[in-house]
Amino acid sequence: MTLLVDPPQTFVPAASLVVNKPRHVGGARRLIDSYGRRIGDLRISVTDRCNFRCVYCMPEEGMQWLKRDTILTFDEIERVSRVAVELGVEEIRLTGGEPTLRPGLPELVERVSRLPVRSLSLTTNGFLLRSLARPLAEAGLKRINVSLDTLQHDRFHQIARRRGLDEVLAGLEELERYPSISPIKVNVVAMRDFTEVEVVAFAELARRKPYVIRFIEFMPLDADGNWQRERVLSGNEIKAIIERDFMPMVPVPAEPSSTSRRFTFSDGIGEIGFINPVSQPFCGTCNRIRLTADGQLRTCLFSIDEWDLRGPLRSGASDDDLADILTQAVSHKELKHKINEGAAFQRASRSMSQIGG
Ligand code: SAM
Ligand code: SF4
Repeated sequence: MTLLVDPPQTFVPAASLVVNKPRHVGGARRLIDSYGRRIGDLRISVTDRCNFRCVYCMPEEGMQWLKRDTILTFDEIERVSRVAVELGVEEIRLTGGEPTLRPGLPELVERVSRLPVRSLSLTTNGFLLRSLARPLAEAGLKRINVSLDTLQHDRFHQIARRRGLDEVLAGLEELERYPSISPIKVNVVAMRDFTEVEVVAFAELARRKPYVIRFIEFMPLDADGNWQRERVLSGNEIKAIIERDFMPMVPVPAEPSSTSRRFTFSDGIGEIGFINPVSQPFCGTCNRIRLTADGQLRTCLFSIDEWDLRGPLRSGASDDDLADILTQAVSHKELKHKINEGAAFQRASRSMSQIGG
């Protein structure tokens, strides 16, 4: 099997670059990296724990959890978020591990939603959504991504190593009652020799339900280290299956920083997205940074280095000090991931559930 990979993206570094110094736009301090990418999206992990053990993410057993006192408090998360928003972050996503396991999650949503952000969203496995959809909507959640890799019970157990399909589907149904949370996106991690047989079923779901279905290519971020290029089922391959076995699709315009290539069907009903970080990397327009549950800032999913915010937060740092750390970190943001560069590729220093996807 040959995985077709788009040619490497070219980057035009910002002119007269001065790294390690705050960049100012229109008088305001802004997070802009050394390649001219403006950071607008902060992903915050609120816990490293999870009630599933997805094969592409966590080991079946033996996961070492973070000590509870190292996990950022709501006050600390809110403070980092505020400083980041003052530096130009407009979108905040709460994730994990499984974020719904964090006690009091709606309270955190409520606190962060008071910040002037364009979007506040959550990525969840959906298992606890039936009871949480309402409190999350009332707290001001605006968007949601629910991960669901199969619509069949036995296969669900094969992937998540837990039972839970009915709960996730019920959680999705419940979400439909709260139109203030929109869109509802369903994330499907696509893996060769697994996902192919359900591609059409997911395409049908995208037409039957108000869910945007997004296929995500499998990345080498699994804790088991079992990722193999051969297991990546590319977005283009999935698109070809849909068009061959189901219905033609037409592109939908997407924002430049969007990770997803969006399509609808020829009659305009339903939306499918393809997130192709392996076959069509989108690092050139990446505007994201990540905060781990234990307060480490990461500028790429594949970062080796992290920037400590928890220590400064707990030893009297001012907002300006925090802004300096964010600015410094962003000035070192990686140009791109090296998944397609053979021996140059180094696995990330943490796996997906420990980072916050
Ligand atoms: N537990 C929540 C969930 O599953 O939605 C949030 C955290 S999870 C780490 C965030 C997203 O990363 C999910 O959509 C999950 O499917 C995706 N993910 C995890 N491991 C991945 C991998 N190795 N490659 C691609 N996506 C992955
Ligand atoms: Fe848990 Fe999400 Fe990772 Fe699955 S993908 S093990 S639900 S953190």
